[in-house]
Amino acid sequence: MKKTYEEIEITHLSNGEKVTFGVHKYKGTVEGPIVAISGAVHGDELIGAEIIRRVAKELENYELKGQVWLIPIVNQLAFESVTRNTPLDMNNLNRVFPGDEKGWITDQLAFKFTKEILEKTDAFIDIHAGGKIPIVDYVYIHNDEGLSKAFLSPYLYRPAASYEGTTATVTTELNIPSVTIEIGGGPNYEKDIARGVEGIINQLVYLKVIDGELKTVENQVVLTEIASIRPTQGGMLVPAFDFSYVNKIIEGQQTIAEIYNPKTFELLETIKAPFEKNVMILMRGYVGTVNSGDYGWMLGNMESKEND
Ligand SMILES: [Zn+2]
Repeated sequence: MKKTYEEIEITHLSNGEKVTFGVHKYKGTVEGPIVAISGAVHGDELIGAEIIRRVAKELENYELKGQVWLIPIVNQLAFESVTRNTPLDMNNLNRVFPGDEKGWITDQLAFKFTKEILEKTDAFIDIHAGGKIPIVDYVYIHNDEGLSKAFLSPYLYRPAASYEGTTATVTTELNIPSVTIEIGGGPNYEKDIARGVEGIINQLVYLKVIDGELKTVENQVVLTEIASIRPTQGGMLVPAFDFSYVNKIIEGQQTIAEIYNPKTFELLETIKAPFEKNVMILMRGYVGTVNSGDYGWMLGNMESKEND
């Protein structure tokens, strides 16, 4: 196996520093597909960088048939500030693909990533997370259900409509098997990182880049409806459930959190589960502040689950 590392240049900052993203390329001696795996398209989703670092170590144990390209941090600027968007232009990288070489710095990054990675790969895995505070656990089904299921998450989501301008917008248009993984966030627990590594290695088995026995999860659930709940009031958030409830069933429309005015003690908002039978997909699991309109929870409707 041959290993290379390169940094793809996007532009310069005003202080003279280069803006780049790093690509580790692992090339097997046998021909096969190129699989690109990226993390930190959103700068506050740190777990992807660590999962990818450990995947790199794991790859040392295999003979590759094809290539694996690892991009641990796509948006270096947002990663540095641990923010979802690029601080210099406030743009969300995962809404501007395929980008624009003459646009904002985020557009330029998207353009380079599209040209240098997305258009050159045969399969694409993008690792996302819940962000700085929430934890999330599900996998999108875009255009290769087997690839999505091979990540071994208990819950998958087949959206009726996808967001425009994402990495997957580009790759699905190019008919490149694609998957968006949502795992961990918040405190970046070791168990989520370990699951991430196991899932990615299994996906590489599915794509036949490495040899091995394909693992499966029994009774994986494919949801077609997930409600995203954003608080309409800022304040101190007191959740009714801690992070052990990620991917757990919540029966009925019970209270999942309360938001208080920390100055006056006034109860500003009560957040309730929306369905008769909910599954916790994304959540906030400890007491802390929340901003009005920010991502709060995602709950899947268990009645929207597809039958096998
Ligand atoms: Zn993300």
